Amino acid sequence: MEGVKKLFFGGNWKAAVRPSQAAGFFAKFAAGLRGHVYDLEMAGARVVVAPPSACLSIARQALVNEGLEGVVGLAVQDPWIAEGAYTGATTFEMAQDPLVGAQYALIGHSETREPHRIYRSVAVLDETRLVEIGGLTGKSPRPFRIAIDAVVNRMTRKALELGMIPIVCVGETLEEREAGKTRQIIEHQMSGALAGFTPEQIGKMVIAYEPVWAIGTGRTATPEQAQEVHEQIAAILMEHSHTAENVVPVIYGGSMKPDNVAELVTQRDIHGGLIGGASLKPEVFLELILKGVRAFS
Ligand code: PEP
Repeated sequence: MEGVKKLFFGGNWKAAVRPSQAAGFFAKFAAGLRGHVYDLEMAGARVVVAPPSACLSIARQALVNEGLEGVVGLAVQDPWIAEGAYTGATTFEMAQDPLVGAQYALIGHSETREPHRIYRSVAVLDETRLVEIGGLTGKSPRPFRIAIDAVVNRMTRKALELGMIPIVCVGETLEEREAGKTRQIIEHQMSGALAGFTPEQIGKMVIAYEPVWAIGTGRTATPEQAQEVHEQIAAILMEHSHTAENVVPVIYGGSMKPDNVAELVTQRDIHGGLIGGASLKPEVFLELILKGVRAFS
């Protein structure tokens, strides 16, 4: 069953923007975006920005001031799953608070799949898993991956429980690609992320395929390389959810820019992008989005 493909563009600001810069970004972005809201609607395109947590309320206020609250969504980066004594954490609940208003949660980004974070997460989730994963030193890649997938799954559940939309990132490292393990890694990460969810819950997710070797490196996957993995992800989604094609946006991330967005989003199973570097300047991010929308319509 085939649905209509809709576009999704997410800007991942990581830790590269300060609150005062966030306010300036939205003022410029709004000025450029305002004339294109109709084009975005026609393409069914969603635009989301994931600022650092210190910038979230300012970003929300800027969107309200610019009248773009319903046009641009906000995502929290790598939120923490429990409230309480966790120094330094930003929780899902904080991000969803009315004064902050994030509707999306960026989960499982390769930069957050680090041993110490995962160790902490697993300790909160289920102590028995500590036994299963043993020493999280990176020396034992297989148990380490199982632990990460379990945490990603738990975070995804938390987002859905709160009515937030999880943007779940998967992707292989260069080493894994060169060893011919891309399909296997994607299969593990995807089945780990989707385990135990109903088709209805899966239908609310966004999946980002981000080959780790293409993130922030200027080295983009070719449209064919990306499409091959997106096709696999589409098949896994169908297996787990039996819903219509194109219900879950599967976006590509890894050095997406205005110059390569068109060739990527015109691939059959690519629904847009998760964009790091090129989302930091409002005029570049806007150019990328508009080129993507035009290529597609
Ligand atoms: C990212 O961080 O998700 C990303 C894709 O970064 P970049 O676009 O800079 O490669």
